[in-house]
Amino acid sequence: MTQTVAAIIWAIGLLAWAAIRYPHQRHARRIRVVSDSRSLTDRLALGAATAGLAVIPIIYLSTGFPALANYVFRPWMGWVGLAVELGFLLLFHATHRQLGRNWSVSLEIRDDHRLVTDGLYRFVRHPMYSSFWLWAIAQAFLLPNWFAGLAGLAGVAIFYFARVGKEEDMMRAAFGKEYEAYAARTGRVVPLFKRGD
Ligand code: SAH
Repeated sequence: MTQTVAAIIWAIGLLAWAAIRYPHQRHARRIRVVSDSRSLTDRLALGAATAGLAVIPIIYLSTGFPALANYVFRPWMGWVGLAVELGFLLLFHATHRQLGRNWSVSLEIRDDHRLVTDGLYRFVRHPMYSSFWLWAIAQAFLLPNWFAGLAGLAGVAIFYFARVGKEEDMMRAAFGKEYEAYAARTGRVVPLFKRGD
């Protein structure tokens, strides 16, 4: 595995993310939003994730900036990156399918919103965010640059910590005891950790 192949894997990952998301984004437009907990903080958090997972790596790959932060690429990094990237895409695809019409890019409750507690949601409350963590980890292995490689982890960390508590507050307000019970038996993003992992 060469550095160029690793960069191509990173780029294919971004395109595959967009291809998986696109039909859900289109479909979501047709489903009425009942309540909306979007905020400026949440928008900024989404912006941070976009910057870290897309804008900064694209600048790095097209201009080489910041070259000062480069380090030596080793083939094993590319193989680890590829394996984690595949895990990300499989998980991202599965969570979109399982959340179905209940998905929103931001914090929204939809018409006829159902609390999903089966499939991957049996084990963790935020498997789509688990997939975003994998995406960021894959990027760190695929791009041998301290800034561009780690920007994804910083972006996902900002996004995750700004959003997850607010999302759970919104779900608790919408589903009450049903969500309380669900939260008590599941971890947030890692199956083995219950509550607050
Ligand atoms: N946090 C989840 C979902 C991300 S999409 C995950 O990581 O898999 C965000 C939207 O999904 C939220 O606005 C909320 O409306 C919806 N949502 C989150 N958890 C849900 C669940 N268990 N069942 C149904 N909808 C959910």
